Amino acid sequence: FNVPPPQNEPVLNYGPRSLERVALKAALEEARAQQLDIPMYIGDKEVRTGTKLEIRPPHDHKHLLATFSEGDASHVTAAIKAALAAKADWEGLAWEQRAAIFLKAAELFAGPYRAEINAATMLGQSKNAYQAEIDSACELIDFLRFNVEYMTEIYKQQPPVSGKGVWNRVEQRPLEGFVFALTPFNFTAIAGNLPASAAMMGNVVVWKPAYTQIYAANVIMKVFKEAGVPDGVINLIYVDGPVAGEVIFNHPDFAGIHFTGSTKVFQNIWQTIGTNIHKYKTYPRIVGETGGKDFVLAHPSANADVVSTALVRGAFEYQGQKCSAASRAYVPASLWPAVKANMQRDITSFKIGPVEDFENFINAVITEVSFDKLAKYIDAAKADKGVEVVAGGNYDKTAGWFVEPTVLKVDDPYYVTMCEELFGPVLTIYVYEDAKFDEVLNIVDKTSIYALTGSIISQDRYAIEKATYHLRNAAGNFYINDKPTGAVVGQQPFGGARGSGTNDKAGSMINLLRWVSPRTIKETF
Ligand code: NAD
Repeated sequence: FNVPPPQNEPVLNYGPRSLERVALKAALEEARAQQLDIPMYIGDKEVRTGTKLEIRPPHDHKHLLATFSEGDASHVTAAIKAALAAKADWEGLAWEQRAAIFLKAAELFAGPYRAEINAATMLGQSKNAYQAEIDSACELIDFLRFNVEYMTEIYKQQPPVSGKGVWNRVEQRPLEGFVFALTPFNFTAIAGNLPASAAMMGNVVVWKPAYTQIYAANVIMKVFKEAGVPDGVINLIYVDGPVAGEVIFNHPDFAGIHFTGSTKVFQNIWQTIGTNIHKYKTYPRIVGETGGKDFVLAHPSANADVVSTALVRGAFEYQGQKCSAASRAYVPASLWPAVKANMQRDITSFKIGPVEDFENFINAVITEVSFDKLAKYIDAAKADKGVEVVAGGNYDKTAGWFVEPTVLKVDDPYYVTMCEELFGPVLTIYVYEDAKFDEVLNIVDKTSIYALTGSIISQDRYAIEKATYHLRNAAGNFYINDKPTGAVVGQQPFGGARGSGTNDKAGSMINLLRWVSPRTIKETF
């Protein structure tokens, strides 16, 4: 069999009179009116419990969008049981059949479910139409299509050399046990990809999304089922993280975790797995994409417009809640007046408000907890003599969790917001003397406790070369003359090292190889 060659899904533009805008508006209205009662999906059952939790749009917290059923430890146990019961049939199915299921899911997202998944992402996670389109339509579709391509390459790999009278071969087995997929709130594409990539390679999965992502997760599950993912292969549960972890990480059949989320949570999970290692049948695969504190470094030769565009788009799209978002920058003094003026002009032109108005570029941050944390850091910055608030600095939670895009200029390159991940629309800038570029390179590297993304902006080839080499461990995705966000599946495999994860590059063959365990067979005649 040959599977169709993958192509990146074209991004629709949702212009004022476009058909896609009409469809999306209708989907938004329908979703707002529905008040869904969202179940967990365990085996062949939709499971509802007596504990109903609310889902409210972050930009409109007075509106009850839906409820979902929270489960407890017994539901985690049931999900593991259902997964293990589905295992033999699923791993016995020819890989081409599994490929077909996920290719069909990609087509369903691209066509009949595009408006619904985008509307769910917009309402549940407060993403504007464009940000939803590049995430929950295009990136999700790309993950599915490109992973099928990488899967094909894995299964079609050349066999090893065989000598006279001997036939050697290597077989790619799914992991022995089940995989736990733990997904973050900020990308619907990641929510779909983490369970799907493990399942594609013949594994059975227990999937727990962030509670703030359940509204879109429900649509993903609906599409997976319609595409033909058999009951029990992916089980979707809503259980408090530590409660789920307690059951999962004590289970002998736990064979791997596919995680995206914060560094601290991942480190705790790793530690728990280490403590329990003697309880498992096999060494579990530990794959995690975690936090970031991503940088933009401008060289004195850079064009000020390129720098300010990289900063404004890199830092504030989706309210800075991308793991790759620019959140610290180093700008030479000679460029600063122009960069500052450009940024102030752009930021004051941004409209802030709910996603239903397509003119709003900035929407709400995800939760009150996140809002309060950001407000606390902004207030501390305002009170600090070493910090200048260059733009923004206001916040308002009357209708939703709205935080203005905020730019801070600091005297100390190690100021707290230059180092910690805030995960919101706050960009901190250190302005350096032009002659001190080499010194700043050291500061950037030293501050890169996380190492996810970073950019050098320069027209000087020697400076580009120097930064590329010197910062080789400071970012898993390094950009030259561009913003540090917007990796495209199949074009820039994504992931970071140091505190940012195991760097198994989401949407790549490296990642898929983590979900199989090869067996070498030698037959002698
Ligand atoms: P989070 O760590 O709070 O949650 C991630 C998942 O872990 C959720 O499903 C959550 O419920 C669960 N969880 C939390 N505590 C747990 C525990 N003690 N035991 C078991 N499970 C637990 O992350 P988030 O706020 O949803 O997402 C934002 C974070 O994700 C940021 O740090 C961001 O940088 C990171 N992120 C990284 C990438 C990447 O590719 N590197 C991509 C997206 C997001």
